[in-house]
Amino acid sequence: MAFTLPKLDFETSALAPHISEQTMKLHHGVHHQTYITNLNNIIEGTDLADKSLEELIKFSANNESYKGLFNNAGQTWNHNFFWKCLSPNGGGKPSGILAERIDADFGSYEAFAEAFTAAAIGRFGSGWAWLVEKDGKLACMNTLNGDNPIAAGVKPVLGLDVWEHAYYLDYHYKRAGYVKAFLDNLANWEFAAAQL
Ligand code: MN
Repeated sequence: MAFTLPKLDFETSALAPHISEQTMKLHHGVHHQTYITNLNNIIEGTDLADKSLEELIKFSANNESYKGLFNNAGQTWNHNFFWKCLSPNGGGKPSGILAERIDADFGSYEAFAEAFTAAAIGRFGSGWAWLVEKDGKLACMNTLNGDNPIAAGVKPVLGLDVWEHAYYLDYHYKRAGYVKAFLDNLANWEFAAAQL
């Protein structure tokens, strides 16, 4: 069955001024839609057409012959997940079990924020920053282009798109400002906690 663009849980204007309506409309309506359309075109009429997104990612990971499938399946999944990681009422220190886990595994929320920011800024070129759960512990990592933690068998908890299309209209070259706005104002901790 063909994949479709998921509806957002908020209006495209709801994240402003941290992420503008223009960025959200292009990012969701054009960039994400294009990955989905490309993915559907690749799998249509093949024996891959009935596979889940996760199955397609794991199948095509580290396989040069399926690079196009991997990139577009990965980016379809990554954006599906990313929209859930954003909330108009998000950001700041989380509470509850997630806060306890962050304190236990990073030492403090501030240390986590530093590690997440380093992962986001340290991704040279296009990719993603992630909070993940690996071997029972929380950690930060980044991935290149359409790659993601599930390709490596690691559980994603929170993800941030650090491709230029995610922030260039609003922050120009200042990726760090975008990462800070995400952590301070948009990160959906309720969704992140539900991933644990
Ligand atoms: Mn994107």
